[in-house]
Amino acid sequence: MDANRYDQEPALGASHERARILLHHARRVVVLTGAGISTDSGIPDFRGPEGLWTRDPEAEKLSDICYYLSDPEIRKKAWRSRVESPAMGSQPNAGHHALVALEQRGVLHTLVTQNIDGLHQLAGHATERVIEIHGTMRFVRCMSCSYRVSMEVVVERLNAGETDPDCPVCGGILKSATISFGQNLVAQDLARAERAAQECDLLLAVGSTLSVYPVAGLVPLAKHSGAKIVIVNGEPTAMDSLADAVLYGGIGDLLPSLTA
Ligand code: NAD
Repeated sequence: MDANRYDQEPALGASHERARILLHHARRVVVLTGAGISTDSGIPDFRGPEGLWTRDPEAEKLSDICYYLSDPEIRKKAWRSRVESPAMGSQPNAGHHALVALEQRGVLHTLVTQNIDGLHQLAGHATERVIEIHGTMRFVRCMSCSYRVSMEVVVERLNAGETDPDCPVCGGILKSATISFGQNLVAQDLARAERAAQECDLLLAVGSTLSVYPVAGLVPLAKHSGAKIVIVNGEPTAMDSLADAVLYGGIGDLLPSLTA
């Protein structure tokens, strides 16, 4: 695939104008973001055409809690990929900044992100408006006790030569504070996200295949609660049939023109 696939000029046609008008009139916007909004910051997605899992299906094991807890080799691989991850030093891009503009206009109800990279907060969103529904890679937690520490502390241990660092309090298994496949979401976060989907007058979904549940279920929930749905992604999603406007193209090009 062409590495600049999403860089092409978006077609600013009738759907774009419809989406712009819908956003202009909306007063309570819920934004739902996925990995696609962060690819312009150098962080690959999983399922996109150039995604990590598309290129290496084995990599999916690193995000599965059963493999992680039972196999030290998977944990070593997961820690290595964490240290080498481009996400560690990444910065927000035009797509993230365009969403901050919605908050500055006073119309952002809640931003629900499936991303674990912390870039929405770095771009300037108020922390209390953001729900990191799949957790965060900026912290590490123990799977057996309440120990929680910043990722930098563990990266220092990894850089000093440890390959599968254990909990300094109880000796338990450490893991980034992300929600892997097989782990439950935090119930309060999901309840808050569902309430937001029911209260909004427009849901804007950006950079997600909308195929991971229960998060993808926020789209039909908002729709059935009367909200308009706008989807921005580089390729079709599982929820396009519910949308009032669907825009295909590069997020960094499309979003600023929608939210300004
Ligand atoms: P996904 O990988 O399933 O889908 C991403 C979508 O974004 C794809 O359809 C892809 O074509 C599109 N896309 C990528 N770059 C784009 C661009 N510049 N412009 C337009 N479209 C673009 O992502 P998902 O649905 O969010 O699910 C992946 C899961 O993996 C999430 O749950 C998330 O927790 C995790 N994840 C997070 C990060 C991150 O934090 N940045 C990165 C990878 C995966």
